[in-house]
Amino acid sequence: MRTVTIMNVPFIHINQESFVKLLVERIEEKEKTFVVTANPEIVMKANEEPDFMQLIQQATYITADGIGIVKAAKLLNDPLPGRVTGYDTMMQLLKIANEKQYRVYLLGAKRETIEKTVAKLHHQFPNIQIVGYHDGYFDWENNMIAKEVAALKPDMTFVALGVPKQEKWIAENYHHFTHGLFMGIGGSFDVIAG
Ligand code: UDP
Repeated sequence: MRTVTIMNVPFIHINQESFVKLLVERIEEKEKTFVVTANPEIVMKANEEPDFMQLIQQATYITADGIGIVKAAKLLNDPLPGRVTGYDTMMQLLKIANEKQYRVYLLGAKRETIEKTVAKLHHQFPNIQIVGYHDGYFDWENNMIAKEVAALKPDMTFVALGVPKQEKWIAENYHHFTHGLFMGIGGSFDVIAG
């Protein structure tokens, strides 16, 4: 996959629709995928904090989450096809999960928020298979969640712990998982819960 590098961060050169297709192909092939959707704040943070840069470089793909990244690529004379946001990617994947019976795990946000999110998603996608979920305020040290996710083997796991916690959780636990998509999605559950 071609990438466009902005301040040392390699962005995948792909549009929203093709990116979702690529992720679905990888799910079908039982590949493991770590996605970081990076906005300008993330690029700045990565350049200020080597540990965070090292963390996001572990991603399979880094996408341009926001018009700021797309504009920067244009200024560098190496344009990107458009924004590929965490929220849109997640919603499009959930629609496909509903049709194809993919196994979905949701992690993050406050307990009431995640419960509301699960209820709303069941309403919007009647056949969705949410195989598990947990709020984002858990004991990081004993990390029962990673064991649960490893045992449930979801096809897609959406992690809403904010930056950099969500990327850290995925990177630290990635070796426990055999396949599936893992993506940090920031405040998206708060948006769905309303
Ligand atoms: N969050 C969480 N656990 C934490 C910290 C944050 O579950 O330890 C959740 C928070 O409830 C919110 C989401 O992470 O639903 C995103 O938080 P924020 O908007 O601060 O992150 P951003 O999208 O700006 O990265």
